[in-house]
Amino acid sequence: MEETIFHKILAGEIPAHKVYEDEHVLAFLDIFPLAKGHTLVVPKVFGETLLDLSAETISSLWQGVQHATKKIKEVLSPEGFTFGVNHGEVAGQSVPYVHVHIIPRWADDNGGSMHSIVKNPPSESIEEIAALFT
Ligand code: AMP
Repeated sequence: MEETIFHKILAGEIPAHKVYEDEHVLAFLDIFPLAKGHTLVVPKVFGETLLDLSAETISSLWQGVQHATKKIKEVLSPEGFTFGVNHGEVAGQSVPYVHVHIIPRWADDNGGSMHSIVKNPPSESIEEIAALFT
């Protein structure tokens, strides 16, 4: 497996600006921030995507997201947050090491909601799609 930039950050081989850390996760500022305080949270156990993580790692990863969010709220007082995971290359994942984006939001930030990410509604009815899951 090839080492990613996040392996190197976790190993202390390249610097990062820490927002929060515990035994399970590291949260650090995104180097190309979409907003002030844009933070990435990575588990200390490697997985490329959420599907590669154990239940315990997923649990501690999202607890880490909550801790980092509290810290960002205290320091920057944003009015809301967008949480995001670009899962797979086609969805925009550029670093193949699972990470959660925390993007602080303000009323006047000209950003959109989750509904602005993709507009690809299915041609099938909701019942036809639901039938695939039964
Ligand atoms: P994604 O496109 O979801 O894979 O997000 C990867 C994120 O990592 C991007 O938002 C990059 O700006 C960020 N990034 C890449 N290299 C670094 C770095 N050395 N330190 C902090 N953030 C980084």
